[in-house]
Amino acid sequence: MRLEVYFEPDVDGNSRVLFLRYVHDHLIQYAQNVARLRRYFCGDKKCDAFGQAFGDQAKIAKALAAGGKGKVFCPDCGKPILLRDVIEEKFESPAVKEQVREMQSEGQAVIDNESRELLAVHHTGFIVAEAGQIYRGYTNSDHGIDGEIEFKHDQGRASGKRLYVQLKSGDSYLKKRQRDGAEVFQIKNPRWADYWQQQAYAVMLVIRTSDGEIRWMDVSAYLKRESTGGKTVRQVVFQGERFDAVGVQNWRKKVLGGMSVA
Ligand SMILES: [Zn+2]
Repeated sequence: MRLEVYFEPDVDGNSRVLFLRYVHDHLIQYAQNVARLRRYFCGDKKCDAFGQAFGDQAKIAKALAAGGKGKVFCPDCGKPILLRDVIEEKFESPAVKEQVREMQSEGQAVIDNESRELLAVHHTGFIVAEAGQIYRGYTNSDHGIDGEIEFKHDQGRASGKRLYVQLKSGDSYLKKRQRDGAEVFQIKNPRWADYWQQQAYAVMLVIRTSDGEIRWMDVSAYLKRESTGGKTVRQVVFQGERFDAVGVQNWRKKVLGGMSVA
């Protein structure tokens, strides 16, 4: 199997080296018997061979084995093509290797974030199902709502009445306030605060921490309470209750009210 990497002409040298090293280290880590073949091109834009890779790998190998900078000659215009060029030098440099390690761990952090978010989604779906209600996750949560819980009538029919949820997963969302130890949630996107208040149904902020605990709070009611007189609220003092099937049932009674008797 062969993986080929090419760059658009305007990609700068540094990015090339980093990307090549990143791909290389990834392959070394996950595949066996990886051999790296570098493609070389005649650098002369006026040359007929410009943009065509120098094809004679045996010649390249021989020139490299001879030591020094190593060069082959363009079969078309005869100009030298340097083999140990800047890219090759940088490819082996400790600084580039280190930068690639950093990129890899950042990639890992993104993956961990994604699986954390999935945990919150599944946990929520599980609790809602346990309560016998319907959970729907939204595919696009850019507006600050990740999904909805729709309540069923006693006969099992969907009622159309619901709660909205915003899911947060991880320990970084709640910060302890110095003076009183209150847990504070920072609303990063101020438009979300408006959006949450405009909904016809309550918007619940659900926070799942790494210890597996999951709590929720009616954040739309909090914002309506706190933003009297046109005050902009950017922080929520999180007084979350345990998010469980009983909690969902209690909300169901509240939302459906007398209707559930029908
Ligand atoms: Zn040439």
